[in-house]
Amino acid sequence: MSELAAPAATTTPTTTPKVGFVSLGCPKALTDSELILTQLSAEGYATSKTFEGADLVIVNTCGFIDDAVKESLDTIGEALAANGKVIVTGCLGARAGDAGGNLVRQMHPSVLAVTGPHATQEVMDAVHAHLPKPHDPFIDLVPAAGIKLTPRHYAYLKISEGCNHRCTFCIIPSMRGDLVSRPIGDVLKEARALFEGGVKELLVISQDTSAYGVDVKYRTGFFDGRPVKTRMLDLVQALGEMAEPYGAWVRLHYVYPYPHVDDVIPLMAEGKVLPYLDVPFQHSHPDVLRRMKRPASGEKNLERIARWRELCPELVVRSTFIAGFPGETEAEFQHLLDFLREARIDRAGCFAYSPVAGAAANDIPGMLPKEVREERRARFMAVAEEVSADKLKRRVGATMQVLVDSAPALGRKGGVGRSYADAPEIDGTVRLLPPQKLSKRLAVGEFTKARIVGTDGHDLVAEPI
Ligand code: SF4
Repeated sequence: MSELAAPAATTTPTTTPKVGFVSLGCPKALTDSELILTQLSAEGYATSKTFEGADLVIVNTCGFIDDAVKESLDTIGEALAANGKVIVTGCLGARAGDAGGNLVRQMHPSVLAVTGPHATQEVMDAVHAHLPKPHDPFIDLVPAAGIKLTPRHYAYLKISEGCNHRCTFCIIPSMRGDLVSRPIGDVLKEARALFEGGVKELLVISQDTSAYGVDVKYRTGFFDGRPVKTRMLDLVQALGEMAEPYGAWVRLHYVYPYPHVDDVIPLMAEGKVLPYLDVPFQHSHPDVLRRMKRPASGEKNLERIARWRELCPELVVRSTFIAGFPGETEAEFQHLLDFLREARIDRAGCFAYSPVAGAAANDIPGMLPKEVREERRARFMAVAEEVSADKLKRRVGATMQVLVDSAPALGRKGGVGRSYADAPEIDGTVRLLPPQKLSKRLAVGEFTKARIVGTDGHDLVAEPI
């Protein structure tokens, strides 16, 4: 058994949270302990040499032979008796008891959390749930929300990395690997830090937002000591509730049209998150979607969008498409144009298919000449603009909430903002005219109400009120 202490313990202020740490077992367990201690130290926790002097104790256990099991269970018992708050990790944490269930929990039901080996993040989640790390602006080199490259009033929140799909035109999985969802506690903690730091619009991103948590089997994590499932609906609900007191927006990107997405639409209708969905459909024809190996390619997307709009008439759908995919016939392309008109996609982008080195689609027969691909893209964009312009015109006369992105001359000469229908960088904007009221000023990062008076291409023109 070895007890480890942080070098900074003697110089750390008394308010610094202290963790007692016992490391048992083999060198593999020791390296797990080192990872956890490194993370604790990086986050500003100190370690305590005694159980009594700690705010919480972590025991990294061994479950290899009977003696090691006994030593581990005895140590957990000692820590519970002396301190009371104990997190158990390591090989014994993964062992089942005689009657099934978890052995450690059977022997010591009052432990706070139990994880298996190689579980730094789960251990840190448990530590955060029971002993929050205070943010100290004089010590921490970066803000709680991390370093951001976006303007102060909006930020991207990445919820996962990688992707389990294998779309034939895409090489992202070969570069970034399979889906790895970030722990829900970390995601929500980052979101709260962003709202506290002044963010008024949070943009949820990933490769496949609907798949959040699939890789960890929708594991239950912790936030503020409460259990939350690592699942899209639970995440969106929690973000919506969190954003409310800040009057902030939550916008969802890269959502694939799986059936469970239907459950998110009522949250949009209730105003918890923006009624805006970025769904990369890429095509509408089932055969092309099959050749693309698209996720949710069997879904009836027209019916689905119609149902979403019944539940939430304000819903804005943005999407991206590929024209001229290998083997695309004129009839398949027409199917796409009909889909665009019928689905009334509010904002659509389109790429002419272009081969990517290493993509499986390069081996699909029927590569179309570049002129055909470009010509189809142009025809697509003409229809997309028709649909979008018609939808924009219907907004004239309405009053909308607009988030101001720029406001020169101290906001007296108008500015540029966005409504719920416009994501930054990819959609249109709302051009704000100089305020009529002398007392009215526009301010960057603030919301203003505005009456829509006209359209200008992809943009709206509005009078602040
Ligand atoms: S295009 Fe397909 S494979 Fe590529 S990241 Fe998106 S879902 Fe995954």
